Amino acid sequence: MTQGVDELAAGIRSGDRRALARAITLVESSRPDDQERAAALLDELVADAGGALRVGITGSPGVGKSTFIEAYGLHLVETGHKVAVLAVDPSSQRTGGSILGDKTRMPGLASSPDAFIRPSPSGATLGGVARRTREAVTLCEAFGFDVVIIETVGAGQSEGTVADLVDVFVLLVGPGGGDDLQGIKRGIMELADVLVVTKADGDLAATARHTAGDYRHALELLRPKEGAGAAPVLACSSLAGEGIAEVADTVAGLRADWAASGRLTELRAGQAAAWMWNDVQARLSEAVHSHPAVVRLAPELEAQVTAGTLSPTTAARRLLDAFRPDAPS
Ligand code: GDP
Repeated sequence: MTQGVDELAAGIRSGDRRALARAITLVESSRPDDQERAAALLDELVADAGGALRVGITGSPGVGKSTFIEAYGLHLVETGHKVAVLAVDPSSQRTGGSILGDKTRMPGLASSPDAFIRPSPSGATLGGVARRTREAVTLCEAFGFDVVIIETVGAGQSEGTVADLVDVFVLLVGPGGGDDLQGIKRGIMELADVLVVTKADGDLAATARHTAGDYRHALELLRPKEGAGAAPVLACSSLAGEGIAEVADTVAGLRADWAASGRLTELRAGQAAAWMWNDVQARLSEAVHSHPAVVRLAPELEAQVTAGTLSPTTAARRLLDAFRPDAPS
């Protein structure tokens, strides 16, 4: 085995947090030699992984994700769990919002010895960021975290990708009532296993209850995911700590039901197969983009395509001809 990998694997298995942090940095690295060591490490640890409850948390900026994760995470820690918080936040989507998985947004959790928070890996493509996060999940599970929370912003493509990483997907929505309901894309609603109305306290408490009723009604009209009932809708206040235990119980209950019925095994098998092809696609795309002949040819072809003098199909075919392994580079 590659040097250093044994040591990292042993460190992770023995609960050394510095080893875990170093290992995540290794899987995030794009250097070929690091990638080789990362692959060896993941192969070594994969048998120790798979045991955690994997929870996805999504919602628009300002909906209360970090405040919720702080409250939910601390509740989990208080009830004896070890919690890792990871984030999927492709840089292209990071436009002025707060940084997901930022420790300062979850101060209580950040200082807990039973919690681990890691911001999103940086990377140009969602596929690349998601792959590194998936590998970080493996490392966190091998370390012994029994709950892994993955945070993402519900404003783009990333929630579909995160749904492929988790067992239970939680959508947070504001207590805004009907207006908000219109703004939430149907696709995100369909991905959600649990819907939680945030900020159900003070002046907003009554509105939040109404909003929960509206969503319940809306979800009944949507066709539920195969084999599932309509997603439960709850309301909570992360600041007052109300309804947090109920969310935690609902998420854990769904996971337990699915484990008992075989649905969890099926879900994870489907995710693993999807990830294999995602990986093929992501690596192939990276290889094409960095191939010398492609790099040389692309600007001219792109100029012709933009000018309308060459069809995109022909240009794509020429680039792929240049990429062919037997083509001169
Ligand atoms: P994020 O951008 O989705 O991570 O949202 P934040 O967790 O940063 O919260 C955005 C704002 O909503 C902050 O000002 C929070 O104090 C506020 N907030 C979050 N949770 C609650 C809650 O349970 N009740 C109330 N009243 N405000 C909340």
